[in-house]
Amino acid sequence: MRIVLVGPPGAGKGTQAQYLAKNLSIPHVSTGDLFRANISQGTELGRQAQDYIDAGQLVPDSVTIGMATNRLQEADAADGFLLDGFPRNLAQAEALDAFLAEQGIALDGVLDLEVPEDEIVKRIAGRRVCRRDSSHVFHESYNQPAREGVCDVCGGELYQRPDDSEDTVRTRIEVYHRETEPIIDYYRAQNLVVTISALGPVDEVTARAMEALGVSEAA
Ligand SMILES: [Zn+2]
Repeated sequence: MRIVLVGPPGAGKGTQAQYLAKNLSIPHVSTGDLFRANISQGTELGRQAQDYIDAGQLVPDSVTIGMATNRLQEADAADGFLLDGFPRNLAQAEALDAFLAEQGIALDGVLDLEVPEDEIVKRIAGRRVCRRDSSHVFHESYNQPAREGVCDVCGGELYQRPDDSEDTVRTRIEVYHRETEPIIDYYRAQNLVVTISALGPVDEVTARAMEALGVSEAA
């Protein structure tokens, strides 16, 4: 299956992408991984991206599109892939379509994860991360540490990342509405979009997603 996963920040997109890719035996292709891989391998596109990042500028679509289309031509993506974070705007969606058409293939579906805005703010603004190890993540409502402000794993201090503050989250949601939602309309016109609620336990959301995509758990 060739799938694009879309959803606002805080929808749990990365987590769902991992589970779905595993269930469907297809590679999970995330923009974050693409950037990290190209930069660490020192590819031409990686060097270009790094220059923009160092200059505090947005990486142009052409660079991101180049990384994504290179990745989709690797052997493990021949029978399918799950895209996460790409395309993130209309220009990228159109470039992806052009690339797929050139390869004689097409998307099977676009999975749209839906979360109410207030829930997004609650999810993200409540996150507390350990200063010693950013993989130690807690939540002030959903996953409280035994002692407030202290990491259960290593005793490190917990803090709210600046990116997770309520103001920043509202801005990120704004950007999502403005830049990414138009691609949902674009794909809806191609009858590709299935929308599911991203509320509830992770495994329930995964099951909902599999059902919406028309595949059984055993796939
Ligand atoms: Zn810790």
